[in-house]
Amino acid sequence: MPSSASPARRGWPGVGTQLAGRLARLDLHGPQDLLLHLPLRYEDETRCVDIAALRSGETQQVEGEVADCEVRLRGRRQLVAQVRDATGSLTVRLLHFYPQQQQQLTPGRRVRVFGEVRGGMFGSEMVHPRIRSVTPGEALPTALTPVYPTTAGLAQSALRKLIARTLAQTRLDELLPAGLRQRLDLMPLDAAIALLHQPPPTVDAAALEARTHPAWRRLKFEELLVQQLSLRKAYEARRARSAPPLAGDGTLCAVLRAALPFVLTAAQQRAAAQIDADLAEPHPMQRLLQGDVGSGKTVVAALAMLRAVEAGWQAALMAPTEILAEQHFQKLSGWLAPMGLTVEWIAGSVPKKARSAALDRLARGASMLAVGTHALIEDPVALPRLGLAVVDEQHRFGVRQRLALREKGDAASPHMLMMSATPIPRTLAMSYYADLDVSVLDELPPGRTPIVTRLVSDARRDEVLGRVRDACVAGAQAYWVCPLVEESEALDLQTAIDTHASLAAALPGLSVGLVHGRLKADEKRATMAAFAAGEIDVLVATTVIEVGVDVPNASLMIIEHAERFGLAQLHQLRGRVGRGSAESACILLFGEALSATARARLKVIYEHTDGFMIAREDLRIRGPGEFVGARQSGVPLLRYADLGEDGVLVEQAREVAAGVLQSQRELAEAIIARWVGGREALLRA
Ligand code: ADP
Ligand code: MG
Repeated sequence: MPSSASPARRGWPGVGTQLAGRLARLDLHGPQDLLLHLPLRYEDETRCVDIAALRSGETQQVEGEVADCEVRLRGRRQLVAQVRDATGSLTVRLLHFYPQQQQQLTPGRRVRVFGEVRGGMFGSEMVHPRIRSVTPGEALPTALTPVYPTTAGLAQSALRKLIARTLAQTRLDELLPAGLRQRLDLMPLDAAIALLHQPPPTVDAAALEARTHPAWRRLKFEELLVQQLSLRKAYEARRARSAPPLAGDGTLCAVLRAALPFVLTAAQQRAAAQIDADLAEPHPMQRLLQGDVGSGKTVVAALAMLRAVEAGWQAALMAPTEILAEQHFQKLSGWLAPMGLTVEWIAGSVPKKARSAALDRLARGASMLAVGTHALIEDPVALPRLGLAVVDEQHRFGVRQRLALREKGDAASPHMLMMSATPIPRTLAMSYYADLDVSVLDELPPGRTPIVTRLVSDARRDEVLGRVRDACVAGAQAYWVCPLVEESEALDLQTAIDTHASLAAALPGLSVGLVHGRLKADEKRATMAAFAAGEIDVLVATTVIEVGVDVPNASLMIIEHAERFGLAQLHQLRGRVGRGSAESACILLFGEALSATARARLKVIYEHTDGFMIAREDLRIRGPGEFVGARQSGVPLLRYADLGEDGVLVEQAREVAAGVLQSQRELAEAIIARWVGGREALLRA
């Protein structure tokens, strides 16, 4: 675990080994960490209510005298006491209890009990309330009581005491310059921390709860600043490595551009120019090319790969599935073979002999281009002149896999181009991609017809089948996407097989194909090729077709049990149609009882076709957790800030981070050390 430079972590007076061990489980290694261990929520023990005024469902406190206490043995053993004040009597029930609690509840004793009120048949009741013995007239606490995240073996009350003691003895240095604090209207750090641990009676409790209070803002800002600083530092460190400058004479790119049956969109031109500029530098490019499904990322990647070849270096493109990789391979070969360039195809399904011949050509530098799956990063593959690595659907790969591809060549660091069709809202992108440069394709190629989306109840399945039949008879093709069966690949498979059988029976005269994840790669490829060639009318598929599949004649898509899919997934799936000039439709079949969230999600996909809008809505419905997938491992998790809510703070932190890194290096290091300690190593990847 973190051996850290932070001085706080060397010795910890007043904390024994056992306690230190438990604190370490919470990642608390010294007094500073404790001060930054902020409450999850607060309990209000500053007031007592009359027993007669207790309200079921609320968490409240009363003070009274124990009138009665017995241990019941009939049924489940339990302790039942009555606490009485001038207005009534409250039942206190403990289903397991210690002798000390029994003693506190001796009749005649005065207690305060704090807990959730339940309205019972015989008056109000609390089960397992917190019980505190008090003397008559004892003053109530004046601050809200903090509730901290804790761990087994570390009682809330003990942690609370330890933090209160630390608060009295330790101060955190203010690291942010006064001018900056003033400009952004940020509280001093120690005041903010004291307030959050021990809120005064006058505090705006709602703002505290909602984490919008200025004290929270101060902490969130510093946390976001640390995130920006560490990511930018990681970016600079990688950027400082050397890479081969890829600046050829542009002839190959010009030939490809001239041969394309279309003109590049303005967005594609812009992205290509940004990439060219990066590639010409003697430092590795780290660029993310973001574009909605169908925005035309492949041709931009192809141009970048040609830049490498022009300069005498190799380029490789890796995609997460064989179907997708094969499509790239076909597309690139189609464009580049006429130019006399061989593209090597590296995937699990390639026969041994063909494969070793391809590997040999790459190793000798006789071939300059490779396209493949994970197979590209396996051992026997050598790309000694690798100058550019392209990763499609980058979020599907882990940090390690992307690194492995980078390390295939002899160059210190090849240039990296990552591509993603998962649109990410701006705030998230700023936070998670702060260590990348980003190019966005925010425009679709012209001539696409918009996709009409329909929501149809599963009860009207027959009508939908009729529509599929009519469309296919008229020469169109359709995808029929099987419902997702949560956490069971076997059931997914069975559902796909069943659906295929029932569709084949219901659509006599049409050819119905099936493709799913368990098929062998060459079976999958044969089926996809038959579909692309128009020999299959209806393709029943699991989500293996989610990414990248490009069959322009397919203009109809049915998604069964659409409510089981995530929004991003639905958007990706729907992007498989609407690629040709025919009017396209996506029919979302939904099951009987829809939850409110499912309904909200389907409404979003029905109303929007813009991936960024969908992503924003998704963020609102789901929170930021699932957006970033494998990338998370390289990003410090945020404890306080919420990327969905704190967009303004993210922008501010980003701006400040840039300035601080430029002119106040030591300050940057100090802030990072305080928050990240030894964990910064995680960011080095
Ligand atoms: P994605 O960004 O989803 O990977 P692709 O690169 O697969 O998109 O492109 C989708 C389709 O659009 C492909 O058939 C591609 O050849 C075509 N395409 C790309 N750019 C243009 C353009 N500027 N004009 C017309 N069609 C284009
Ligand atoms: Mg693509």
